[in-house]
Amino acid sequence: MIGVYGGTFNPVHYGHLRTALEVKELFELEQLRLIPCRLPPHRDEPDVPAHLRLQMLEAAVADTHGFNVDRRELDRAGPSYMVDTLHSLRAEIDNTPLLLFIGADAFAGLERWHQWQRLFDYAHIVVMTRPGYAGLALSAFLQQRIAEDRTQLSRQTAGLLTFQEVTALAISATAIRELVASGRDPQFLMPDRVIELIRRHHLYQPPTHHTGN
Ligand code: ATP
Repeated sequence: MIGVYGGTFNPVHYGHLRTALEVKELFELEQLRLIPCRLPPHRDEPDVPAHLRLQMLEAAVADTHGFNVDRRELDRAGPSYMVDTLHSLRAEIDNTPLLLFIGADAFAGLERWHQWQRLFDYAHIVVMTRPGYAGLALSAFLQQRIAEDRTQLSRQTAGLLTFQEVTALAISATAIRELVASGRDPQFLMPDRVIELIRRHHLYQPPTHHTGN
């Protein structure tokens, strides 16, 4: 099975990396593709150039076996619709089961995603939850897709929905950007290599401190 973990990764942090590793192990994935999005359709455009978000992500997982940074959304014009991403990925992997991992927060807005029902033509969806997750009232469309167990996901290529609890680390990219902007130290929230890139390129500085490097 191949996993897809999308995000803005602005910047990547241990909240992403820890959950990514946990799901890779739990679902025994051959490969987990981390896919930074180019133009997030549901949020403001990040002020950090895409190539630097990509570079930070590559630095973060350089030594992690089975993690691949996939730049297809950055190379594609227009907004990053997940349905297009899964469609292009499916064409490359034939009948290998594909798992799309999304956080419970993103899942709450799934039915507003572009052509969201078609996501299930190409992949299963795994919702990553935190301990105590109360669940949502699911539409009939989603309800009927719930997988009986994890083994069912490996027996069909796409079309199922499941929920997986992961370790909750209260880290967010927003909080990291604010912390760096106020001159505080982001050490232990993200890999040192990512912090080095933030320093080298003066990322997340308030406009008055920006040197333009
Ligand atoms: P921002 O603070 O800018 O909204 P973010 O830290 O939430 O960013 P994204 O790159 O937008 O990160 O998120 C990508 C995916 O990672 C989403 O599915 C999100 O649910 C998940 N994620 C983000 N932070 C965590 C965390 N601390 N623990 C587990 N999953 C996380």
